[in-house]
Amino acid sequence: MSRTADVVVVGGGAVGASAAYHLAAAGIGRVILLERETSLGTGSTGACAGGFRHQFSSEVNVRLSLASVPMILGFQKEHGLPLDVSQDGYLFVVRDPDSWKTFVAAAELQRSLGVDARLLTPEQALEVVPGIDVEGAAGATFCPHDGIADPSGLTQGYATLARRAGAAIETGVVVTAIRTGGDRVTGVSTANGEVSAPVVVNAAGPWAAGLAATCGVDLPVEPVPRHVVVTGPFPGIPVRRTLVIEADTSFYFHREGGGVLMGMGSRNERPSFDTSVDRRFVEEELLPAAVRFFPPLAAAGIVRSWAGLYEMTPDRHPILGPVAGLEGLLLANGFSGHGFQHAPIVGKLLAEIVTHGRATTVDVSSLALERFARGDLVREVHVV
Ligand SMILES: Cc1cc2nc3c(=O)[nH]c(=O)nc-3n(C[C@H](O)[C@H](O)[C@H](O)COP(=O)(O)OP(=O)(O)OC[C@H]3O[C@@H](n4cnc5c(N)ncnc54)[C@H](O)[C@@H]3O)c2cc1C
Repeated sequence: MSRTADVVVVGGGAVGASAAYHLAAAGIGRVILLERETSLGTGSTGACAGGFRHQFSSEVNVRLSLASVPMILGFQKEHGLPLDVSQDGYLFVVRDPDSWKTFVAAAELQRSLGVDARLLTPEQALEVVPGIDVEGAAGATFCPHDGIADPSGLTQGYATLARRAGAAIETGVVVTAIRTGGDRVTGVSTANGEVSAPVVVNAAGPWAAGLAATCGVDLPVEPVPRHVVVTGPFPGIPVRRTLVIEADTSFYFHREGGGVLMGMGSRNERPSFDTSVDRRFVEEELLPAAVRFFPPLAAAGIVRSWAGLYEMTPDRHPILGPVAGLEGLLLANGFSGHGFQHAPIVGKLLAEIVTHGRATTVDVSSLALERFARGDLVREVHVV
């Protein structure tokens, strides 16, 4: 069956749901979100650790957080919908002296933009999270305004708001291609027929490159599996929900219910859509790193583990906005492991691009796809 819309959003994760809400609320007309799974938020968003932080190394990422974090913190009050949020900070513990220099420079940048980013001695870091191993650490950085929120709550919340604002959200609909005519987008093909629309938002997460290829756009976004392990209760569990990262290994944890949620990148990481749990990695890499960094974890039992997909770009920044030479296609892809926290502002920026022709709240022109052809990359080194 053939239908029409003013904007089609492909993908119902945190980014697509936020986009659908902000586009519909901006009065753009008929907004349709199409998600191929039977429910929303089952892609990267469903595997997410829920962290939000201001501690990035690039100015544009810090600016995106400065705009997005208040939208997370104020979500419940502004929209009257529940959202579980804790604001106990992020603590990065850094051993390597060269790496420490980049953390000091990043903290200076963050402070210059108004972020309360603090440099701590190892002893001060231990006061923030008792029990962690700070031996040999060059220092730590801490921002008390970083925190954790519920990815599913935010996605479902934006979906509810999108429906209330008049958007249609359809699950179980696979978009097979983005259709074009000449140098512009004309809609999408789905297994259930076509939807004509002058604007299509690619919010397909780790699958974004495959979708973009259907209209001839080469998107440098690769899926990289990342593991998460959740433990039961154990003696010495942190009282607060501070997200603690050992920068040298990328191991991180935060309190989750009666236990902790933890994760780490693998030395052998490579692109794949395989999200089966790699027991060898968990037992031989993640758990030893966990017990070394936070020895009380030796007494913890695992209650759940899973793997989800990061959506990596070569410079670890998202690809945001229109595509030169193909009018009507908007990209919101490649968040490189920190897209949940930026989803609120990204939805708003997409609505600004459609209504005003450019993003006004945050200047994201440096994040256009064309930066890769120009070789004008914007590097982010604080990828957790
Ligand atoms: C283990 C892990 C931990 C993470 N921790 C954090 C964190 O602490 N903080 C943070 O900010 N970020 C974190 N992230 C990253 C974050 O989860 C992602 O950046 C974010 O969820 C991306 O959202 P999205 O909506 O773009 O993608 P997704 O949530 O993947 O949504 C894309 C959707 O598109 C749908 N789709 C794809 N192709 C089609 C098609 N052809 N037709 C219809 N539908 C389609 C998919 O089914 C999917 O639902 C983490 C990720 C992982 C894997």
